[in-house]
Amino acid sequence: MEQKSLQRPNVDFIQCDRSFQREVNELSGENVGLCFHCRTCAGGCPYIEAMDYSPHGVLRLAQLGLRKEALESSTIWVCVACHTCSIQCPMAIDIAAIMDALRHMAITEGAKIAEPNILEFHKEVLNSIERYGRTHKLEIMLRYKLRMRQWFQDMDIGLKMLAKRKLDLMPSRVKEIEEMRDLFASPGKGVGNG
Ligand code: SF4
Ligand code: SF4
Repeated sequence: MEQKSLQRPNVDFIQCDRSFQREVNELSGENVGLCFHCRTCAGGCPYIEAMDYSPHGVLRLAQLGLRKEALESSTIWVCVACHTCSIQCPMAIDIAAIMDALRHMAITEGAKIAEPNILEFHKEVLNSIERYGRTHKLEIMLRYKLRMRQWFQDMDIGLKMLAKRKLDLMPSRVKEIEEMRDLFASPGKGVGNG
C-alpha cells in the first residue's frame, strides 16, 4: 500500500455540517465527541502509514462537521477493523465501528471513494458471505482480479497459499444460508452486489 503523509484539514467553519457528528454517532452507536485527541490510537495503528488522516484525525473531522473531508478520506478504507486502537483508547471508543459507519455513509451519499480497489474487495467479500454464509477466499480473489483486470499481480503469493493449502478449492456453505440471505435482503445491507 502506498505510504502517505498525514494531512491536517483546512477548517472553514462556514462549511461545517453541524448534523454530521450526530449522524455518525447514530449510525456507529459510538460517541465521537468523547475523543480528546490523546493520539493513543494513532500510535498503535498498524496501517497509519497508508492513511491520509490518522484515526483520531478522522474523528476530529467528524467533530468539526467536515463531512466531505471525512467521507472522502483514504483512512476510512485503509482501516482493517483490527480493533488495536479501540482496545487502547482510554475512552473505549470503538473507532472501527466509526470507520464502518463512515464507509457506509460514503457509499450511500455518493462521496468520491478514495480507495476504489478496497471498495471492490469489500464487495467481493460480502458477496461471498451472501452466497455461502462464509468467505471462500479463492473465489473472492479470482472475482476481485476479474473486476480489476489485474490477473498477474500477486500471483506468486496466491500460488504459495494454494501450495500450503491456505486456500480451499471448493466453497463450503453454512446450514442456515437462507437466514444469511434474509439479512442481506434487509435494508442497509451496505456494499455488496455492486
Ligand atoms: S485513543 Fe481514543 S481518545 Fe485517544 S485520540 Fe484515539 S479515539 Fe481519541
Ligand atoms: S481498527 Fe483501523 S484505525 Fe484502528 S488500529 Fe486497526 S486499522 Fe488502525
